Amino acid sequence: MQLIIGIVAGGLISWIISHQYYKKSSIKVPPWAEEIIGRLPEVPPTKQKLLELFQDALTDGEVQIHPVLGIVACPDCKSPISEFREKAFGDDRVTIASITCPHCGWHQSVEV
Ligand SMILES: [Zn+2]
Repeated sequence: MQLIIGIVAGGLISWIISHQYYKKSSIKVPPWAEEIIGRLPEVPPTKQKLLELFQDALTDGEVQIHPVLGIVACPDCKSPISEFREKAFGDDRVTIASITCPHCGWHQSVEV
């Protein structure tokens, strides 16, 4: 009898734990996100389409390439380069540009 009670109780406890994790993993879409999700394409864009979109953004000036580093966003947090903080220092022979992302602290020093 105790064996049966133990099996039933164990099963019940397992079900309760599984049910709680299932409820946690079920994501309910908030109303504000439904419109955004509705605009997403049915299939992922191809690499060619992404390149076209990127080139259009470059041509229109929506995306800019950093003149020294040749990047369009922070390598770590993807913030736009327009938000970078830059300082230049050096002497008559060498000029060093210190470039920092204010959002994540990413930093690069380059001789220019
Ligand atoms: Zn960053």
